[in-house]
Amino acid sequence: MKPNFVRKIANWGNFPMVEKEMKTEESLDKIREFIRTNNEVIARGNGRCYGDASLGEHVFSTLRLNKFISFDRINGILECEAGVLLADVLSVIVPQGYFLNVTPGTKFVTVGGAIASDVHGKNHHSEGCFSEYVQEFSLMNEHGDVLTCSRGENQDKFWATIGGMGLTGIILSAKFQLKNIETAYIRQESIKAENLDEIFNLFDESVNWTYNVAWIDCLQNGGKLGKSILMRGEHALKGELPSKYSKKPLHIPKKMNPSVPFYFPGFVLNRFTVRLFNALYYHRQSRKQVNSIVDYETFFYPLDMVNNWNKIYGKNGFIQYQMVIPREHGKAGMKKILETIAASGNGSFLAVLKLFGKNNLEAYNSFPVEGYTLALDFKVNSGLKKLVAQLDGIVEQYGGRIYLTKDSMSKSSLTGYLKNVHNPKFVSLQHKRILNNHH
Ligand SMILES: Cc1cc2nc3c(=O)[nH]c(=O)nc-3n(C[C@H](O)[C@H](O)[C@H](O)COP(=O)(O)OP(=O)(O)OC[C@H]3O[C@@H](n4cnc5c(N)ncnc54)[C@H](O)[C@@H]3O)c2cc1C
Repeated sequence: MKPNFVRKIANWGNFPMVEKEMKTEESLDKIREFIRTNNEVIARGNGRCYGDASLGEHVFSTLRLNKFISFDRINGILECEAGVLLADVLSVIVPQGYFLNVTPGTKFVTVGGAIASDVHGKNHHSEGCFSEYVQEFSLMNEHGDVLTCSRGENQDKFWATIGGMGLTGIILSAKFQLKNIETAYIRQESIKAENLDEIFNLFDESVNWTYNVAWIDCLQNGGKLGKSILMRGEHALKGELPSKYSKKPLHIPKKMNPSVPFYFPGFVLNRFTVRLFNALYYHRQSRKQVNSIVDYETFFYPLDMVNNWNKIYGKNGFIQYQMVIPREHGKAGMKKILETIAASGNGSFLAVLKLFGKNNLEAYNSFPVEGYTLALDFKVNSGLKKLVAQLDGIVEQYGGRIYLTKDSMSKSSLTGYLKNVHNPKFVSLQHKRILNNHH
């Protein structure tokens, strides 16, 4: 990337697309100078948030902050710069018998982005968010000072920055705890559910599994509303591996991932093609339950198997809508949301349902609260704003909230959990939009 120029930038949803200054530097003095000489600066990691959270008037790309600082192999503690991708972390730690305690559904996010969104994985109910394992990070503030932030030092900045969406400064580096693994494989059980009642019962039955996630066919209605497949998993032990994997338990076969070479024309994705995809996906598994051993990439990062898959939504882009509904209203809220989507005809391929456990109250800017969370992709079209407004209304009615890192058009009241981040120096397009909606 050239160090500094005005260019068109968008995040993973390719919506919105804006023309802004983007700068990338590695020297602290130059980063400081960028902060001092500009107002409305925002950090951008790898742009894997979907909307406008890492877009702003002056974008600072952290991708040159890509060095490892230290790796304590005995205690499993890694320190690296904030622009290091989780993919690079995994390539170093997995062969050494370690894994990330928490990982989102793509490994192409930076460590800084994981902290700023306080990402969650398929194990929130059992192991919480990314921040639980962060011991400390360094943050450059609005004056260009570098602060070490931890639970014991600059605590106010530590907690405001976790889930703070880049609005407290630029995270420069972080130190975090890893988990031990015996193998690079997952013991997976994949179970089909006919409807919402069945999938909720399956989640209840699976609370003792470390990882749980369900894929939902959100075009179904009536008795089939909530038709889905639950995938639950545990890190496989050496003794559980089939002989083909057991010689190199910490190494997985290399894959050749295909790429989507160009933006698909707008008409390719419509309710019929989505319906077809969903039917094929559901029937790919003929039995009610399939148990298998899969490598960690297949289990955690199925979407990373196709490069640039975001282009299938066409040039106008897409949004991801992710909300959480508190557990006591989980079933009623999800039912209403799925009915509203099915009625709108705006099909989403990738509707993912997860269960969140209790939230860490100290991390007040973190999105998760105990309950059910659903993430859906929608192609941007003229009816989408209306659908989002309807969904926002349901989320509000059931006391839920939406996930800022996916948002690009939601109602600001659902993002009201974001606190102590107002700072005229660090401003994103998202934050401006939210503040303007309030007035
Ligand atoms: C396919 C896919 C699957 C996903 N699955 C999940 C999931 O399961 N769970 C989940 O929680 N998220 C998930 N996400 C969202 C993703 O994990 C977050 O959006 C993450 O923050 C992106 O990191 P990034 O490095 O790309 O940062 P960006 O997208 O560039 O930025 C995200 C936010 O972090 C801030 N930021 C980035 N770097 C820094 C820094 N160094 N200092 C200060 N602020 C910074 C930005 O200002 C912005 O507010 C998924 C995204 C994709 C595309």
